[in-house]
Amino acid sequence: MEKIKMTTPLVEMDGDEMTRILWQLIKDELLSPYIDLNTEYYDLGLVHRNETMDKVTVDSAEATKKYGVAVKCATITPNAARVKEYDLKEMYKSPNGTIRAILDGTVFRAPIIVKGIEPYVKTWKKPITIARHAYGDVYKATEMKIESAGKAELVFTDEQGNEKRELIHNFKGAGVLQGMHNLNESIESFARSCFDFAVDTKQDLWFATKDTISKKYDHTFKDIFQDIYDKEYADRFKELGIEYFYTLIDDAVARVIRSEGGFIWACKNYDGDVMSDLLATAFGSLSMMTSVLVSPHGYYEYEAAHGTVQRHYYKHLKGEETSTNPIATIFAWTGALRKRGELDNIPALAEFADKLELACIKTIENGEMTKDLALITTLPDPKTLNTQDFIKAIRATLDSLYA
Ligand code: NAP
Ligand code: MG
Repeated sequence: MEKIKMTTPLVEMDGDEMTRILWQLIKDELLSPYIDLNTEYYDLGLVHRNETMDKVTVDSAEATKKYGVAVKCATITPNAARVKEYDLKEMYKSPNGTIRAILDGTVFRAPIIVKGIEPYVKTWKKPITIARHAYGDVYKATEMKIESAGKAELVFTDEQGNEKRELIHNFKGAGVLQGMHNLNESIESFARSCFDFAVDTKQDLWFATKDTISKKYDHTFKDIFQDIYDKEYADRFKELGIEYFYTLIDDAVARVIRSEGGFIWACKNYDGDVMSDLLATAFGSLSMMTSVLVSPHGYYEYEAAHGTVQRHYYKHLKGEETSTNPIATIFAWTGALRKRGELDNIPALAEFADKLELACIKTIENGEMTKDLALITTLPDPKTLNTQDFIKAIRATLDSLYA
């Protein structure tokens, strides 16, 4: 077979530890033999981030704005232990946070469904995609411990010095206090990213908050979504036969559990944080979750939802065998290649992405898998493979699909 040619570079963001090992294996075994890979390479591994004082992260995000599509390997977010381990000049911010701030996007996470890795919820047949708003609320809140009796008020002073005040509470004794915010602009981007993603993937969109209790804060989210839907998306949704609906968060969780899946669930920041972990676990495994950042300007960044799998990396460094699941990282590549194929009108590239995903699924359904899946599968007598052999098994399946 002749190698597939690419016309526009894909922004490639390499990363850390075990996922960096997977990255190279995936390229060597599953991509380069089939595609003339055209990538603009950025090394976001912690060593190189430190060498560039994190400039490489910013450059990679800027390149994503230029070319439109990126694929990212998991990266270390430094903490005190990592500063010591890597002798860092600074405790750099999370690369995902930096990239998200530049691209201003929403993160969509969806499980990869295979037979034999059964969701805990019996009715779920199709993936449920969580869209998490990534700005504000409790993640940018100011908090106070109250030690004694006194009055707490919410005060807003405009640029002319006019004040608006609301009583929060007359404290009779000790307690706690929190002030948080969000921005209409950010909520609007969130809404547009969700509507665009629904159109892109032809799935219904659900959005839920607690607007009955939070009559100004959450209600603003609800109103902005409805307004943008009515003005900009209602016609396209009707054409595609998909639906947008808003409901209370309590009602949403009940409906989600009773549903068959196959829709996008847009969540406020905190709800998305909690619910995405709940969904990942209920669908089976974090190593089977895809994640894509979609910006309201039409930039896409694909990654795996899990981290750098540090414990496996240390085993690998000691020369011990590992059984690390590459599926989410492979799907980050296929997501990015498919999008590149669509944007550049290269059907062979999108077809390749479909085939590679199918090869992954078939390999697992044939009973060959990594240890994390072997532990939870309902298939009889699964064959547990090490990292390298599992990737080779996928390659064999892929070759059979092209034969
Ligand atoms: P993690 O890398 O997701 O791994 C946590 C545990 O989950 C692993 O020890 C492993 O369990 C299991 N696991 C996760 N992915 C797996 C896979 N592909 N195959 C098999 N098992 C898998 O999270 P972490 O250990 O908390 O974080 C490690 C580093 O990743 C941190 O430095 C953190 O900053 C970074 N991180 C990066 C991202 C990102 O770039 N998107 C996201 C989260 C965390 P067992 O050890 O029991 O086998
Ligand atoms: Mg969480």
